[in-house]
Amino acid sequence: MSLQIITDTDVVRQTIRRMAFSTGISVMMAATTLAMSLGSNPDALIRVGDVMLLSMCAATIIPAVISGILSYRSARLLQELTLTRSELSRISQTDQLTGLLNRRGFDEAAMLALRSAQQAGLPAVVFMADIDHFKSINDRFGHEFGDKALIEIAAVLREFSLARGGLVARHGGEEFAALMIGLSREQAEMYAEEIRRTCALREIRSGDICERMTISIGFTVTRGEIDLARVMRVADQALYMAKRQGRDRVVRADEMALAAA
Ligand code: GH3
Ligand code: MG
Ligand code: MG
Repeated sequence: MSLQIITDTDVVRQTIRRMAFSTGISVMMAATTLAMSLGSNPDALIRVGDVMLLSMCAATIIPAVISGILSYRSARLLQELTLTRSELSRISQTDQLTGLLNRRGFDEAAMLALRSAQQAGLPAVVFMADIDHFKSINDRFGHEFGDKALIEIAAVLREFSLARGGLVARHGGEEFAALMIGLSREQAEMYAEEIRRTCALREIRSGDICERMTISIGFTVTRGEIDLARVMRVADQALYMAKRQGRDRVVRADEMALAAA
């Protein structure tokens, strides 16, 4: 019997199922007891008919009501448990500041996505993005403004994933990750550029401060690879190259890097 009690209908269904079960048992027990005590004498049946009917009703209705109440209560508790469990799992996979997936949530979902891409014979693209000179943003405008900047960059990524699909996450401090399935190399390059440009144009405002910031992106296209850590490492190397080449740019890791990783 499944314990997945999520909706109110599940609660009612579970209660009815348990009530029916316990009532059935009660009826069987009452009928068996009466049959055994009366034997097969028809006179006895007529004489004690009323008593029998009464005791049958009592033996059936009282346990049915009690079991109904207890079953409803336990179904409600199971419902709460299921909802609490799924809420806990959601919280443990979500970044509190930006509302995006956190590293744990991303890694779990990305591993599944890589596997299904491999099974479907589709390429998968992993992007790693990092805000440029973010430490100096914090130093100049304060940590709170830095937090606001993280929320804005996360919003760009969320809007992008809503429009284009794919997973996006805050993978660490000021670093973001994305994974998309079924893109060509050219499309991946175009999407990365689109994200980079949108971030560079986004104004981050707080009081009198209005700043723009840039991000660097490294990405890699893989086909048939299911080792997420390896793919992330290669995308990270491309990100490192983007930083070394001057930041505010997109760099793709070539297949050689993936093969060597
Ligand atoms: P680069 O262009 O090479 O990436 O330089 P950077 O300054 O962005 O990188 P660095 O690693 O030197 O600094 C990252 C900073 O990000 C330092 C850390 O305080 C800040 N940071 C990490 N997480 C948070 C956060 O949740 N909120 C704020 N405000 N800052 C954060
Ligand atoms: Mg940075
Ligand atoms: Mg960083």
